[in-house]
Formats: sequence, C-alpha cells, structure tokens
Amino acid sequence: MVKRNKEIIPRPKSCFNKVKCPNCGAERIIFDHTTTPIACKICNQELARPTGGKAIIFGKIVAKYG
Ligand SMILES: [Zn+2]
Repeated sequence: MVKRNKEIIPRPKSCFNKVKCPNCGAERIIFDHTTTPIACKICNQELARPTGGKAIIFGKIVAKYG
C-alpha cells in the first residue's frame, strides 16, 4: 500500500536580499527569513532582526535573489 502524503505546505516567499549597511555602505547578502540577528561585519550595525516570519531589515536593499 502506498501511503499518500497530502501535506499542504504554505510557501513563504523567501528570498535573499543584498543589503547595504546604512552606516558604512558595506553590502551583505541576508536571508529575509533569517532566524538569527545579522550585524555588519565591518561596523557592527544591526542589519536584520528575526521576527519569526520575515525579518526586519535595516539598511537599503540593493538587490534580491530567489
Ligand atoms: Zn557597516
């Protein structure tokens, strides 16, 4: 017997964003549903904050992927 898996999976429209740090201008790729806070490697400015859904992104999104 073949058991059917009828799962309804909601598809979150997740993507990667290239975000420009508002403080120093460095660019970083950030997953927009990140579950960990992301800070700029150079100046330690907070760039993304997880919310449980879509993360809050600080700084300017310059490109999107996915
Ligand atoms: Zn920075």
